Amino acid sequence: MYRTRTDVAPLESSFFKLPDTLLLVFAQDWSLRMISEAWSATLGYPHGELQQRSFLDLLHEDDQAAAIEKLATLSHDNPTLRFSTRCRRQDGGYLGVVWNVSYDAADGLNYASAHETAINLNGDDARLPDMFIDGLTGLPNRSLFLDRLEHTMRRSERRKDLQFAVLYCGIDRFKVVNHSLGHRMGDLLLMSVANVIRNIIRPTDMAARMAGDEFAMLLEDIRDVSATLLVLNRIQQKLVLPFSLEGNEVFATVSFGIVVRSPTHHTPDEMIRDANMSMVRAKAQGGGSYVVFNQEMHDRAVRRLELELDLRHALERGEFQAYYQPIVSLADRRLSGFEALVRWLHPAKGLISPVEFIPVAEEIGFIVPLGRWMLREACRQAREWQLRWPDATPLTVSVNLSARQLLHPDLLEDVAAALADTGLAPTLLKLEITESAMMEDAERAIAILHRLKDMQIKLLLDDFGTGYSSLSYLHRLPIDTLKVDRSFIMYLHEKENARHFVETIVHLAHKLGRDVICEGVELEEQAEILAAMGAEYSQGFLYSRPVAANEAEMLILTGLDEV
Ligand code: C2E
Ligand code: MG
Ligand code: MG
Repeated sequence: MYRTRTDVAPLESSFFKLPDTLLLVFAQDWSLRMISEAWSATLGYPHGELQQRSFLDLLHEDDQAAAIEKLATLSHDNPTLRFSTRCRRQDGGYLGVVWNVSYDAADGLNYASAHETAINLNGDDARLPDMFIDGLTGLPNRSLFLDRLEHTMRRSERRKDLQFAVLYCGIDRFKVVNHSLGHRMGDLLLMSVANVIRNIIRPTDMAARMAGDEFAMLLEDIRDVSATLLVLNRIQQKLVLPFSLEGNEVFATVSFGIVVRSPTHHTPDEMIRDANMSMVRAKAQGGGSYVVFNQEMHDRAVRRLELELDLRHALERGEFQAYYQPIVSLADRRLSGFEALVRWLHPAKGLISPVEFIPVAEEIGFIVPLGRWMLREACRQAREWQLRWPDATPLTVSVNLSARQLLHPDLLEDVAAALADTGLAPTLLKLEITESAMMEDAERAIAILHRLKDMQIKLLLDDFGTGYSSLSYLHRLPIDTLKVDRSFIMYLHEKENARHFVETIVHLAHKLGRDVICEGVELEEQAEILAAMGAEYSQGFLYSRPVAANEAEMLILTGLDEV
């Protein structure tokens, strides 16, 4: 056992970057043939003293067997290897080192360099540096990558000419390989891709496995983004060939996100986040391509993050309002009800359109509490109007439901509670569901719709014609009304095919015993065409934009013509 001295002061923070010239050469019998002065200095030995030693002497006793085993795999066909060990310092402490060893068959010598960040480990509590190596691929892991990136970023603050980039990549449809061929094939594919990456980058650059099927490369001292494109082209070319994994031919493509150093990035995490985001975009383009991160993407990401944070507080701060847009019966131009549309009055940014925040709210799950609030508010308002004008024909209120809400386990209870607590009759409530929301889990959605129908609530299929409309399943949906999307109404008066389309939908709806609402009616001419077609209802700026509750009351009182 090596004796360790406990009086050695641990190095601050215990991470540091090894100088670039840590090189040593050893023969097959482990004898050291050359060791750079920097190495001797790093380990704390006077230069010359190590010349007579064996390579194994430098390693922690407990790491020697593993190192021997790994080095035995070096051969003419497998000439490079990366592994990590603890290295013994002269003062008794240890240094964690990631070795990069190349075997030269011509002279039978091993050339070992340590490019990676090393960690100072102190005596007894020396931890295995393997915690910085990914067990499967042998590549450095995320922590080591972040550490190295941080050093590079710091170095670049002093050297403004130092240009570097992070190349982030993920295997396209990796889950499919994993599921269809099994996890072992998945692992083999990861190892193969890791090898491609390892062999293509320069030895001074770093590649790491970041998570699952994702890898990152740090390319230093590059001229501009074109250098990163060269690297990714070379990787793509290698991946064009199918991998032969235990007899299976597996094709793999990867998507890349590229971030070149920019003043907007202050921490390694920010750089990785943006590289990752760019990769996700590349994947969304179908895979096998790349996206270079730019300032506009950055700004958008920042805005989106702010929006997310603000959204989460907006409900408790009472920043949402329900607006109401009239729905008008085409036959007699009477007000039949309102669609409730949410509005967000942001204290700093003013009125924000639901088109901007509803998708975000859906993604982060916030749509569930927000939708619950809207439902209650709309029911409460409709009931209030009914009580105020008891002699008028009761107005209906339509509330939009997103996919997340529809499939949420509490939905039925929420709806029942909103009706019970406000006293609104279920027959006056209409729920608007889009086709895409239906398609997320059609069978479950249909079951839920049936339950809502059982409660006597009316159901509308919103934005009809824009989704995956499959006319064959329409008759299976327990809906009362098709809501024809604005994009078909827009050209109704000037394009024959738009007219044919709407006419067909109206016929179809009537055949199935449903009625029709046409959205986005802006012109009198459009309303007339729709009335002639026999469509029941219309909604649009022709009658009124969505308005706040007090303005909606004016519409109820004075009738639509006078507004
Ligand atoms: P939607 O449910 O299809 O609502 C109709 C949208 O069309 C509304 O936009 C309305 O202002 C607009 N619109 C109505 N008539 C006309 C017209 O004649 N011309 C034009 N150009 N536009 C017209 P808004 O209020 O911006 O809402 C957009 C979308 O946001 C809604 O589409 C709906 O999908 C969603 N949304 C709004 N409120 C809620 C809500 O409370 N919950 C959920 N889940 N989604 C909501
Ligand atoms: Mg709607
Ligand atoms: Mg719509």
